[in-house]
Amino acid sequence: QTIAPDSAPSTTASADPKRDAYWMPFTANRQFKKSPRLLTSADGMYFTDDKGRQVLDGIAGLWCVNAGHNRPRIVEAIQKQAAELDFAPPFQMAHPKAFELAERLVELTPAGLNKAFFTNSGSESVETALKMALAYHRVRGEGSRTRLIGRERGYHGVNFGGISVGGMVANRKMFGTLLSGVDHLRHTHDPARNAYAMGQPLHGAELADDLERMVALHDASTIAAVIVEPIAGSTGVLIPPQGYLQRLREICDKHGILLIFDEVITGFGRTGQPFGAQTFGVTPDLMTVAKGLTNGAVPMGAVFAKQSIYDTFMQGPEHLIEFFHGYTYSAHPLACAAALGTLDTYAEEGLLTRAAEMQTYFAEALHSLKGAPHVIDIRNLGLVGGVELAPLPGEPAKRAFSIFLDCWEQGVLIRTTGDTIAFSPPLIIEKHHIDRLIDTVRGALQRAA
Ligand code: PLP
Repeated sequence: QTIAPDSAPSTTASADPKRDAYWMPFTANRQFKKSPRLLTSADGMYFTDDKGRQVLDGIAGLWCVNAGHNRPRIVEAIQKQAAELDFAPPFQMAHPKAFELAERLVELTPAGLNKAFFTNSGSESVETALKMALAYHRVRGEGSRTRLIGRERGYHGVNFGGISVGGMVANRKMFGTLLSGVDHLRHTHDPARNAYAMGQPLHGAELADDLERMVALHDASTIAAVIVEPIAGSTGVLIPPQGYLQRLREICDKHGILLIFDEVITGFGRTGQPFGAQTFGVTPDLMTVAKGLTNGAVPMGAVFAKQSIYDTFMQGPEHLIEFFHGYTYSAHPLACAAALGTLDTYAEEGLLTRAAEMQTYFAEALHSLKGAPHVIDIRNLGLVGGVELAPLPGEPAKRAFSIFLDCWEQGVLIRTTGDTIAFSPPLIIEKHHIDRLIDTVRGALQRAA
């Protein structure tokens, strides 16, 4: 198909010309613009839409609003900061809140991950961690370690490093050859052995041995790092099998390979501890976060690194830059203020461990959908859950999306990825919200039967 000249009339113009200019991300634009879903305000567990309807937030916005919406400490912190210091250059300069935030964060991270590098998103955190891993080996005189290993069905954001190590075909296939020297472990999803597992599935730890096969194929001296999400969220809520992450850690240690956990979704209380690393009892060498870091209020991400990695970089003359990487908006004052307000809110309300308190109720409610029309599997841990539906023949993702639309009509926001319905509610959720969330989905499934 050739490109029409700019002067040609648009074939895709929406009914409302005010909606034409915005090219929406990860959205079916033409369909959306015919009947938009517009959110105009939010408070606590609810959004309000442009028609004044209250919509229960079953997904914490987009896996990020962990403390619920419109939290006073966060709002006030951002407002105060905007009036005080709008911007401070982050290169060769800083502002006090950047240091304060890093200190506060490394009190929460697993022991040893005590350096924080700031970015503006999960995607940027991933790129940063991959570059840290490559540069780390190079500084240590092991520059042959350039190979990066991701996993099938991994999601690590949308920049070139992230889609290269990621394992979602739709996110990769249009964009050429991507990074060279990347391999993928098999994913851990095994419905034949682990269907309807509550919490961590029993079977599949041995899939970590794929890394040994890659060492046998390429030699450890060529491998820089392995990156995985402790729970793969965006590809259908895939919980790691018991022992899997431990085994990955052991193999990495044996061969000098860095282990990176992408905790953009699992960070900040989602699994019942501050980080998935703590819930699963495995400490990575580098850990990426974003989303819940500022409760979604201002874009921000971070990479946590082990002391030994940081120390490796801190060589050479003191006046020289040690790591040639950073963003104009790294440690932006508004983001730092939002993050500090977020950490205060999490601490005051015990939110970073609340998922552990709510998970039994949540799990039982979620698993009560077993037997509902089209449901073929249910997965959960902490306050994250996935309900997988049988796809419509020849039309993958369509059935789940129709459930999403029905729930929206009923005033409940869920998210779908492929034919899996994902739940990831704000950590302030109460039992009656869980009941409504699950009952609404049950009703939608019955209507779709
Ligand atoms: N990594 C993981 C595990 C994610 O789930 C996401 C987003 O959902 C990202 C990275 C990308 O984050 P962002 O959209 O902030 O770039």
